[in-house]
Amino acid sequence: MYIVLFLINLFWAGVIVYAIQWFNTQEIGLFYWIEVPFLAKLFIGIAMYDLSTYWFHRTAHFLPLVWRFHRVHHSDTTMDSSTFLRSHSLELMLWFSVSDILASAIFGLDLTILGLYYIILIPMFFLEHANLKYPKWLDKTVGLFITTPNIHKVHHEQDEFYTNSNYVDMECLPLM
Ligand SMILES: [Zn+2]
Ligand SMILES: [Zn+2]
Repeated sequence: MYIVLFLINLFWAGVIVYAIQWFNTQEIGLFYWIEVPFLAKLFIGIAMYDLSTYWFHRTAHFLPLVWRFHRVHHSDTTMDSSTFLRSHSLELMLWFSVSDILASAIFGLDLTILGLYYIILIPMFFLEHANLKYPKWLDKTVGLFITTPNIHKVHHEQDEFYTNSNYVDMECLPLM
């Protein structure tokens, strides 16, 4: 079973790489039309991938079909680092890869930027779900730049009113 899952993942990763490289070779996307320094492209690119993740996360809450998969992540009654691992594989594979492909096509981003985004995002996912006790002032300071566990905890409340808020994964709070 695990070998089948591994092969499906490998195949799907190939599809994502192929799709993004195809858009790149066709020079499709904003950064192919406007010239910006590499470092600026890197920072803006990572932010744009994250913005796309944010919106796809929001849609996972209001599109009933996608919510059926995303609710697996919300089924954990007590949040800790392992909550991040409780996600439906179809949601991660299909929904969020569509987000990455779309962001690459719109903004003209490549696999290097996507790789860097995930190097930052995966530890952030573990951190934001962590069951940590820390001073509240960190939410008001560090929380302006990254999603702290207390901010994300609201999103994991069982009450629907709170679950449908605080969608941020790693970006700045003004996007909430
Ligand atoms: Zn959610
Ligand atoms: Zn979560």
